[in-house]
Amino acid sequence: MEKPSAFRTGSRLPVRQILVVDGSEVARLIIQRTLEETLPEASVLLCSSGEEAIALLDEHPVDLVSTSLRLPDMDGLDLCRHIRRRKVSAHVPVIVVSGDANARLLEGGFEAGVTDYFDKSLGYREFAGFLRSFLARTSGLVGRVLYVEDSATTAHHVIRVMENHGLDVVHTQTAEKAFELLELAQASEGGQPFDVVVTDFYLRGSMTGGDLLHAIRARLHLGQQELPVLVLTSAEESDRQVEVFHAGANDFVCKPVVEQILIARISSLLTIRQQYAALRKQADEMHHMAITDTLTGVRNKCYLLRQGERFLADRRHQPVSLLVIDLDRFKHLNDSYGHLVGDHILEALGGLLRECLREDTLAARFGGEEFVVLLPRCPLEEGIRRAEEIRERIEHLYPEGIQITASVGVACTEQHINADLPSLLAMADKALYQAKQTGRNRVCA
Ligand code: GH3
Ligand code: MG
Ligand code: MG
Ligand code: MG
Repeated sequence: MEKPSAFRTGSRLPVRQILVVDGSEVARLIIQRTLEETLPEASVLLCSSGEEAIALLDEHPVDLVSTSLRLPDMDGLDLCRHIRRRKVSAHVPVIVVSGDANARLLEGGFEAGVTDYFDKSLGYREFAGFLRSFLARTSGLVGRVLYVEDSATTAHHVIRVMENHGLDVVHTQTAEKAFELLELAQASEGGQPFDVVVTDFYLRGSMTGGDLLHAIRARLHLGQQELPVLVLTSAEESDRQVEVFHAGANDFVCKPVVEQILIARISSLLTIRQQYAALRKQADEMHHMAITDTLTGVRNKCYLLRQGERFLADRRHQPVSLLVIDLDRFKHLNDSYGHLVGDHILEALGGLLRECLREDTLAARFGGEEFVVLLPRCPLEEGIRRAEEIRERIEHLYPEGIQITASVGVACTEQHINADLPSLLAMADKALYQAKQTGRNRVCA
């Protein structure tokens, strides 16, 4: 049976196993109890000596080892060296617990392969908190990887490695299929859902990993921070490696893939991607704040003045009707009900405008209780009709249970073909003045 060309593999989060090595039975019991309380999701194994720990590690893989510096049969650093020498435990983090975390430790620590130290004098509660935050920092990666690999054997191995580290993996065998998925993701609502692309260089099909990389950068316009790409090459190909960097690869990993190297590279690429996403989100929020009126949620005056001219200049918008909407006797409402109630009324009016106007209209708060609306592809007659509709809805809005009315002035580019924003505003304002003069709660053009 033919394999599907792209499939989403399920991700498994590793169970956290902690091995605690301590010569003192009392200490072991306290540590066990404290960890069970503080880290209920982890399972704790206890050993009283270095030999016992080494024997256990051969049988039982763990996620973290904590050892006291002085063990009955060896030094904690010696235990660490043993752990590093064994294939099954070579990369397990080792925390050394000691009452005198001093220069001696720091000196021999790197060579012995110690990951971190904990000062015992801080107490067992602190120790449990330390392990908790250590595990949180080093626990499974979070992200979606698009992985392109045509060799079934390599794919099997690499997918397992990535999933064991908590990654969500989508695998395709060809660059063509991968590009299709990326295009699809980019076109769909909510942006692209892949955080990193990992691709083999040589692939079945007419596109190589290099072609895919080029297409991501040059056709989808996704930069190195927006979508990091990691290329798998063979160790001899240094020219190739230079080439993929030129094409916009963030990094490469040599085949055969070494788990710790692959994961370290993906981890730093995910950090880049996450920082980029956070920055972009922040920039988007700031931009939104800068163009929005905080009270009413419509655009602010600054935006109207900057974008209004462009809006008018757009041929596809012609003709444009401009409405100036002004609440009637609002000062009186403020005086009778208070400024705060007045604010709530303005807020409700903003909500109404946002609700009854289409995406392509521009609605802005021009001043206190005065709003401006630009309606695209709207001849004068329709502009008057839309204004009348809005006026009527305001009359029936009853914000805070209070009846409010508005007067509206309308002007249109249909009659004044080359009118700019200030002159259209002046014309609509004149019409508004007329509406106020002739009794308010009405539309004039
Ligand atoms: P008219 O029918 O002629 O338009 O009368 P009006 O009272 O609405 O017009 P006027 O321009 O004299 O008064 C506008 C009032 O709007 C004055 C001011 O107190 C009030 N106002 C302006 N901005 C705000 C605001 O942000 N919140 C509140 N609550 N009131 C505001
Ligand atoms: Mg290949
Ligand atoms: Mg008013
Ligand atoms: Mg006014």
